[in-house]
Amino acid sequence: MTHSAVECFYKSQSNKKEEPVTKNFLNMDSRDGGSSFINSVSNYLYNNIDILDFYSTFRSNFKSVLLILIYHGVGQNQENWMHPSINEKIFETQINYIKRRYKVISLKSLVSLNQEKKPLPKKAAIITFDDGYKNIYKYAYPILRKYNIPATIFLTTGVIGTGDLLWWDKISYIIWKTDCRSIEFDSGMISLESVKERSEFCFTLTEKLKGYPNNKKFDLIEDIGRSLDVKVPSDIGKKIYLSWSEIIEMNSDGFEMGSHTISHPILTKIALKDADYEIANSKRDIEHKIKANVVSFSYPNGLPGDYNAEIINLLKENGFKCAVTSTLQEPQFEGGLFELARKSATFNLVPFRFAASHMYDDIYKIRKYLWKIDS
Ligand SMILES: [Zn+2]
Repeated sequence: MTHSAVECFYKSQSNKKEEPVTKNFLNMDSRDGGSSFINSVSNYLYNNIDILDFYSTFRSNFKSVLLILIYHGVGQNQENWMHPSINEKIFETQINYIKRRYKVISLKSLVSLNQEKKPLPKKAAIITFDDGYKNIYKYAYPILRKYNIPATIFLTTGVIGTGDLLWWDKISYIIWKTDCRSIEFDSGMISLESVKERSEFCFTLTEKLKGYPNNKKFDLIEDIGRSLDVKVPSDIGKKIYLSWSEIIEMNSDGFEMGSHTISHPILTKIALKDADYEIANSKRDIEHKIKANVVSFSYPNGLPGDYNAEIINLLKENGFKCAVTSTLQEPQFEGGLFELARKSATFNLVPFRFAASHMYDDIYKIRKYLWKIDS
């Protein structure tokens, strides 16, 4: 799970028509300053998807394009407490788009190309999924098979086959299932009357607890469950996350399995020995089940500050060959493979094409450059 600025932006737009999104697409970006001229140009380009395709291909003549996409769940959720997923039809449209324009490779192939010092294809794409939601098996797997596209699934092993929920799903379950209409929290009274209020409290609480050590976080979630009189069923996770048999089946069908730790802590917020435990044991558990090496890792939360040189060293010591982040920059193939940036793909086709074209990266660089000159 991640909540990068862009992902939240797209999520917040997911129920709206595409047109209004385009109007203020770059004005909403707060990463730097920028001029209204640049905004106008970028909004014009954003609205002209043929130009986006042309731009992407034109750009690849000068430098290989590497696009790494991050998904979480796919398909319609049955209940509103479940983690937001991308609609399966939109997912298929995106995959079809990628298939026709990119050479889709696996993370393992990227590692091999890097080790053998071979160049990337002109336009390469990699599909990844974080956390290990079960709907990947039901909705994404058949679509990816249909288009013969490989993917990497990063598993949070503590919830695979155990029945447990990931901590943010537990929060969500409690808040959406409670009959209570309010809760005392942070010395204030929070209303849970409306859908909007419940949704906002889920988000606030999740953001607040992200950096907590596990014990403190889990105790607080237990307290909230008691306060709101909700008991989370002990086996509910089996309906939400992949089973080992589904994982083994997909792996034998060419899907790569990577590690996303055991309990999804932010690794820089826990003791190094605990980070080592999370990294080493999630890898060991997956390898034990799939009977194959695990070489790819996804940093929980994945933003700058959620990983550092010490964590990268731990990954190397444990035999990992690459790691993906959730940062927005273009992934660099030539350097080390332990900070591979990914683009969130939980949105409709037009913004998806905009992100995939790398035009956003280039406009950002130009704006930053101009801003520095202006200041
Ligand atoms: Zn995650």
